Amino acid sequence: MTILVTGGAGFIGSHISVELLNAGYNLMIVDNFSNSNPEVLRRIQKITGKSFEIHQIDLLNEKDLERVFIENRIEAVIHLAGLKAVGESVVEPLKYYRTNINSTINLCKLMKKYHVRKLVFSSSATVYGMPDKVPIAEDFPLKAMNPYGRTKLMIEEILQDIYISDKQWSISILRYFNPIGAHESGLIGDNPNGIPNNLMPFITKVAIGELKELKVFGQHYPTIDGTGVRDYIHVIDLAKGHVAALDKVLKTNSINTYNLGTGQGYSVLEIITAFESITGIKIPFQLSEPRLGDIAICYADSSKAKMELGWEAEKGIIEMCRDAWRWQRKNPNGYQDNKLISNSRIRDSGLMNMESTEEVEKNVVDEKTYT
Ligand code: UDP
Repeated sequence: MTILVTGGAGFIGSHISVELLNAGYNLMIVDNFSNSNPEVLRRIQKITGKSFEIHQIDLLNEKDLERVFIENRIEAVIHLAGLKAVGESVVEPLKYYRTNINSTINLCKLMKKYHVRKLVFSSSATVYGMPDKVPIAEDFPLKAMNPYGRTKLMIEEILQDIYISDKQWSISILRYFNPIGAHESGLIGDNPNGIPNNLMPFITKVAIGELKELKVFGQHYPTIDGTGVRDYIHVIDLAKGHVAALDKVLKTNSINTYNLGTGQGYSVLEIITAFESITGIKIPFQLSEPRLGDIAICYADSSKAKMELGWEAEKGIIEMCRDAWRWQRKNPNGYQDNKLISNSRIRDSGLMNMESTEEVEKNVVDEKTYT
């Protein structure tokens, strides 16, 4: 059974790809590599020992995307591709609306045309805006606070309309809380471009000495220690949530929304302390002004996912810190040092058979890096 994963080479997509292959699905990745590195593909193959297909395609290019649907029997789609930087979305809203909304419309149009009506969509807890209380349940009021969040909310509404128009669809909307950590092999992980916006990649870059100190945004929130509280979830748990949601959409015709979080909130200072005690590395930090648009506390009520998907997060903060650090330590420059498959090796919109590139890659990787 072939599952198409858009954005499958990204941080979350690569972990979902691993879990899908481990669960026995045939995997087809579509990614334009705008914010990911083709090296990740070899790493996925290395972890799973399985081959899969990859198409370098921009979802805005409907013609290229249509070829994938014509040439393959796709059973379901996990749609992750899109832009995700909140700050950038404020500066360049049109880029965000065009990319995230239009690409989803192209995808859904082709899914409809080729009778592929099973979809898992990557949404975000950002659609809850500033919630009145915690834990946050799926039926809380929705209000996005920036263009990025609004694209997620709009897509959720588009999907609801698609389902209303044709009840043959089966859709699962997954609202992520704060994914961190990495695969325990240390082979794949978060690889942000430039200075990270998110807390954990910033901490690991301080730990490795690339950044001098962490700025803790806000110290007077009504929380345990005055710093912001979030629901951090291990990316592997998040990926397993997608497999559970996929199993459900394959079996039913319905539309459902699920929070994917642990239900446990940690403050920024608690995360720093946990990271320090697990790694033995001191993280210098400075308390500073709150970041514009940040909320004080955000954590999930994930009981709906537990009840209906039989899924719940299993990994705790220790594994999250340990695995994030292992990834950073083994890959100080992310995937940069191991550009095994250069972009030119992936023909535009072409198919890359992972097995056929293995020979070339084998010579470039120093296996010792990964032990
Ligand atoms: N944060 C921080 N310093 C940073 C980045 C983040 O203090 O350099 C805080 C942020 O204010 C929030 C928490 O860490 O309370 C998680 O932030 P992140 O950007 O990772 O996730 P989000 O704000 O989207 O939930």
